[in-house]
Order: sequence, then structure tokens, then C-alpha cells
Amino acid sequence: MSNEQLDNRVTQLVRPEIRAINAYHVPPAQGMVKLDAMENPYRWPEDMRKQWTERLEEAELNRYPLPGADGVKLKLRQAMQIPEHYELMLGNGSDELIQIMAMAVAGSKRGILAPEPGFVMYSMIAKFLGLPYTGVPLTDDYELDLEAMLKAIDQEDPALIFLAQPNNPTGNLWGEEKIRRIIEASRGLVVIDEAYMAFTDSDLLPLLNDYNNVVVMRTLSKVGLAGLRLGILIGSNAWLNEFDKIRLPYNIGVLTQVSAEFALDHFDVLKGQTDQLRQDRETLFQALNAIEGFQPWPSEANFILVKVPTGRAAEIHSALKEQNILIKILDGAHPLLKDCLRITVSTPDENQALLNALKSIV
Ligand SMILES: *Cc1c(COP(=O)(O)O)cnc(C)c1O
Repeated sequence: MSNEQLDNRVTQLVRPEIRAINAYHVPPAQGMVKLDAMENPYRWPEDMRKQWTERLEEAELNRYPLPGADGVKLKLRQAMQIPEHYELMLGNGSDELIQIMAMAVAGSKRGILAPEPGFVMYSMIAKFLGLPYTGVPLTDDYELDLEAMLKAIDQEDPALIFLAQPNNPTGNLWGEEKIRRIIEASRGLVVIDEAYMAFTDSDLLPLLNDYNNVVVMRTLSKVGLAGLRLGILIGSNAWLNEFDKIRLPYNIGVLTQVSAEFALDHFDVLKGQTDQLRQDRETLFQALNAIEGFQPWPSEANFILVKVPTGRAAEIHSALKEQNILIKILDGAHPLLKDCLRITVSTPDENQALLNALKSIV
């Protein structure tokens, strides 16, 4: 069969909107100072790594994992102080939880709505499933445009609304009052995405007590376990029982369960690391603010959005890459992100390396 025939077959079979997607791009990072993906730069102390590998040795890879990962859930409840009366569901990262919720509502005419710029997986997953997607622009200073949100909710009647608090890539909080207004206006389910909870005092979990159309999503990725892939959905039985039907039975593997339980037994170590990053975020913010023409945005997450002098984002991004430092360029991703770069807060040494490089470039 010729290449052309093969192409024809693929074209006929795969939906046009899928063929039009640019695959999610992860840049090569071997040997780089990695400040692009909100990872925790700290590893575990050596004795802890040793205890972990001992636990792994006991893991029974010949057996299927516990389907509900109950041991992990119990420890998550303790570590994150999640009250008894809320149900938990785990995903292979919160990405999988977003996908599960979207699958549960797919097929109706109602879609997904989220403020923009925001987390890209909300719109990508909508596209994968053929769901309508509405992005509502934030204001010029990245606040929620409540009027525009309420209007869009009224017009689109979305099945799912995603609100990341703090928001990625802007790093800010929008205030509980506006969030409440959106929940009250929505006939659909509002998902509060608290991926960055370790880096803020904000905690919107109590909203679950006041509304029956809210669930809260969290993850271990930004706490220091990005490689593990463990996302957490918290909400009432009524929602989670339905979503759980769509979850593939063994989505959390044996190695993940053993490792997550171990990590949660040592949550104080992770907390020490994220507290350190929180402190170093302020130092980095001040230093970025002192660079001529740079405008960093105050952040409640483990990254800082920076507006650089007009037209220079791409040049600064690639000059840093030349010096083995990887950050995220956002210029071009959304009109409100013109001239913007996003920098993950790292160790004092790596932050300093970044600042030195930036000073040599600008
Ligand atoms: C990083 C991030 C996530 C985490 O996704 P995982 O699949 O759990 O790694 C979720 N939401 C937002 C807003 C994020 O920035």
C-alpha cells in the first residue's frame, strides 16, 4: 500500500478536528535548568529514598492494583484534611479527572467553559471529545470579568465550568465572592482546580458545604510528585459515583499506590519543600521586578508570569535556552499574554542562575 493510500485511510477515519490539533508539545530538557513546568526541584533525602525503594521491593507487580486505591485515599484525607463526608476519586493526574468529567457530560449539546488565559487541558479535552468550548477572556489585569462570565454562562449553559485557583498561567486568585456568583449562576457543575494549593492560603474546599454543583480538584504534581501522576477529585457521592463508572478500573497502578502512600506518610518533607519555594518566590519576584522593563505579576503559585519589553519575549526565551535554561514562552498563546514568559520558582541556586542569565541578556 502506498503512503498516499495510507494517508487517505487516516484522513477518512480520524475526525477533522483531531487531525487539526497540534500535539501537546514537551520540549527536550536533558541537562537543562528546568523552569518551564512547575515541577518541585527538590528530591527526597537519601534515607527517605532508601525506605521508599524498600517498600517498592514488596510491591506485588503480578497482581492488579486495588481498584479504588483506598489506602492512598485514607492518607490523602489525613494529609489534606479532607472531611469524612466528602467522597474522593483518583485519576492518573488531574488531566485524567478532567477527561472523565468531560466524558460524563459529552453527548449533550452543553459544553465546557473556562476563563482565558487558563490551563490548556480544559479546551484540549473538550476538543478531543467534540464538546463545545467557550473561553471567556480575563480582564487586562487577569481578574475574572464577572459580567462577561455571567453573560457567557447564560448564553452557553455549559455543563462544566473550570476555575483554577490560583490560575495557571497568571498565578493569581480571583476572590471567593466572584467564584460564588459564578457557581450560583451556573446550572452545570463548577470544578474548582486547586492544583497549586501548596503555595497559597486560599482553600475553597468549604464551598462544597454551600453548593451542590461544585467539586474540587487537586493533584500531587505540584507538591513534588509530578512523575507519579496522581490527581484527586473531591465532592459529594452523587457526582463522584457517576464519574467513577467511567474511570477505567485499574487507573492507579501498584507502583503509584505504594509510592503515594509512602510520600503521604512523609508529607511534612514535601510541605517543607513547598514552604521553601513559597519563600523563594518572593525573593525571585523582587529580583525580577528590579530588572529594567520587566513586570512580574504577584503569584500565589510556584511560578511567576513576567511581562518583558515589547517584542522581546521570543528572543529572551531562546537566549536563555542557549544558556541551558528552559522557561515557558506564552507570547502568542493568547492576546492577553503578549510579551509574557512564565518562570517556575526553583532552588535559590537555579533562581540565581536564571537572574544572572537574564541580566546578561537584557
Ligand atoms: C499543572 C496543573 C494541573 C495538574 O495536572 P496533573 O495532570 O495532575 O499533573 C491541573 N490544573 C492546573 C491548572 C495545572 O496548572
